[in-house]
Amino acid sequence: MAEYARVIVDISLDKLDKTFEYHIPVYLQEQIAVGTQVNIPFGKRRLTGYVVELTDETEYDADKIKDLIGVVQKSLPIESQLIALAAWMRRNYGGTMNQALKTVIPVRERKKAVEHKTVRLALHPVEAQNQLGAYQRKHSTARARLLEALLAEGELEWNFITGKLGVSGSVIKALEEQGVVRIVRETEYRNPVGRLSAGTYECTLNGEQRRAADAVCADYDAGVRATYLLRGVTGSGKTEVYMEMIAHVCAAGRQAIVLIPEIALTYQTVLRFYRRFGDRVSILNSRMSAGERYDQFLRAKNGEVDIMIGPRSALFTPFPRLGLIIIDEEHEPSYKSEAVPRYHARETAIARAKMADASVVLGSATPSMESYYRAERGEYRLLELPTRVGGKVLPACEIIDLRRELREGNRSILSRRLTEEMEERLRRGEQTMLFLNRRGLAGFVSCRACGHVIKCPHCDVSLSQHGGGRMVCHYCGYEEPQPAVCPSCGSKYISGFKAGTQKIEQVVRERFPGAGVLRMDFDTTRNKEGYEQILSAFSNGEADILIGTQMIVKGHDFPNVTLMGILAADLSLHVGDYRASERTFALLAQAAGRAGRGDRPGLALIQTYDPEHYSIAAAKAQDYEAFYREELIYREMLCYPPVWNMLVILCTAKQEETAERAASELAGALAAYADLPGRERVSLIGPADAVVAKVNDIYRKVIYLKSADYDSLVEIKDRTECLIRDNGGYRDVTVQFDFNPVNGF
Ligand code: ADP
Ligand code: ZN
Ligand code: ZN
Repeated sequence: MAEYARVIVDISLDKLDKTFEYHIPVYLQEQIAVGTQVNIPFGKRRLTGYVVELTDETEYDADKIKDLIGVVQKSLPIESQLIALAAWMRRNYGGTMNQALKTVIPVRERKKAVEHKTVRLALHPVEAQNQLGAYQRKHSTARARLLEALLAEGELEWNFITGKLGVSGSVIKALEEQGVVRIVRETEYRNPVGRLSAGTYECTLNGEQRRAADAVCADYDAGVRATYLLRGVTGSGKTEVYMEMIAHVCAAGRQAIVLIPEIALTYQTVLRFYRRFGDRVSILNSRMSAGERYDQFLRAKNGEVDIMIGPRSALFTPFPRLGLIIIDEEHEPSYKSEAVPRYHARETAIARAKMADASVVLGSATPSMESYYRAERGEYRLLELPTRVGGKVLPACEIIDLRRELREGNRSILSRRLTEEMEERLRRGEQTMLFLNRRGLAGFVSCRACGHVIKCPHCDVSLSQHGGGRMVCHYCGYEEPQPAVCPSCGSKYISGFKAGTQKIEQVVRERFPGAGVLRMDFDTTRNKEGYEQILSAFSNGEADILIGTQMIVKGHDFPNVTLMGILAADLSLHVGDYRASERTFALLAQAAGRAGRGDRPGLALIQTYDPEHYSIAAAKAQDYEAFYREELIYREMLCYPPVWNMLVILCTAKQEETAERAASELAGALAAYADLPGRERVSLIGPADAVVAKVNDIYRKVIYLKSADYDSLVEIKDRTECLIRDNGGYRDVTVQFDFNPVNGF
């Protein structure tokens, strides 16, 4: 029983930091928990507030602290639930209570939101270019200036145009009348597709879909709340199943949250939900201002919408009667937050669902190791959609050995087989996608003759190329010089692999001079419009070949694509991260699944230097189980998640020695603590340099801890926080925690 409660009086951005301490009188102790709404004396007034923390220590003079007056006896408001969720996040992921609160509580902005307007290009870039020529010839300089800027940026703030750019509002309006630009007002976010009414959408589920949806609905009616894993191959109609479940839950007067990775949150996807549910749907995206997001949250709280669709943060939509949380593409790494608290949306969704008496449905063609592991152990209920809808078949899949291409004299990134198939597609008027799964900053070092990849002798991860001809292990800091010849076969074709999409575009244009080529990567999609533009141009058949990174494999239906070329499947395999195989398998399976979504069968060609690798072989066979079994053996052997849990403690400081000293001291103290008899085994490695050892002149040191038991790691985190406090806060050092990291360290 804690003696004191920290209370916030007002939930708004600038007030969250400000907590007040009160003494908890004995007769109230039973009723007080984090999230409880309480009455407090405040100066001469009596106010209500929320308990955000319980503590036995007070920073103030104990005699001067006032007592809580009482508990507000109404049904728990949604704020209480979210505060309790924040406390859960703080406990399980570290950080301060304020950081956790700021993540979950929709905050009011101080100043009244002014209408926010942006101006977007409404024409295809080619047409816009022509229009620009016309303005220039007519010496319409203001119009030309605006159009030129929009061609470069895709979208500009109204205030920027009328200010810095010196173009008047009447000129913008004239261009809007001409259909050259579109003015987007804040209110458009409220219903981004206009006034579509529900019920314009009909779809009869097939038998498999029906069974999956019914399983959840029947449980729901029986009062059973659970976490389900819906494993359905690409094109099996998972979205229709989600919508059926949502309709059921909403009909029972509850609300639903649908998480979709931002990159897959396209107009196409959102439209499907609007067609079915009309304006009971709202969306969130990361480009909204805090005010716009607050607006959406307010609508949810007031019962104006029942369904919120958005990326990770939509999880905190303050629905008062939440009934269902759907997480589509649940294996996506973007569900893990990279800011403190480093929460995982999947686990946090399950925690919230418990508090709200809701169910969770996780969906994927290639579930995360975590989810499938839990499904196997009965913690999640497994639902399956093994076939594509409409009797469509999965694409045929072939592996092309790039080592052999090289031996036989082809040094191009396009194998002979891929080139022939692309020619064939051009002849038949069908489309091709070329996928380059490049990820991460550091390149691995491999031999182009035999496929050998240089690995750390201690860690079973590939070494990464660094400056000065060095190779470094990102897990333990081991380092060696880069060899001149392959240690395995003696070939001199050993190097860091670096071929970007731009280079590939050049090769493709040279090889197929008559073909229309589009490229989609980080550079061509700086803004979201660029992304949608390229997608719609390709889907309208304006190009024959689309080259791209991860972005092109997520959630788009291009019925005319019958060939998917995966250029170097190994690229994502050697990124110095124990999740590399899992990510590679998921990417390959997903990429292959892009082909043959229309009436004609598809073909996927997987080019690789490492054809025997189990993640590549399993992707070719489109055999998730086979991959999962192999991968689990590896995870078990090396004590990685999901079998064990991992905690990374990150110490950062301006001076390398400062970070080093703090990390060493902590590691020493924690090693002794972890070894105490009677404790679950915790193994400790480090300190070592982080993957990115220095960012903006801040040095980063890490300690790795592994344990079968998550709570033991939580204890280690709590212990670390005590050590830091005892040490006067480790001046000049920032310490962060990352549980079961997803994006490498
Ligand atoms: P997934 O998310 O599993 O890849 P989608 O839900 O996107 O699959 O469905 C793939 C395509 O099949 C979509 O165009 C969808 O409209 C269509 N579809 C899904 N279920 C049915 C059905 N029962 N009858 C007809 N078309 C369907
Ligand atoms: Zn190592
Ligand atoms: Zn070699």
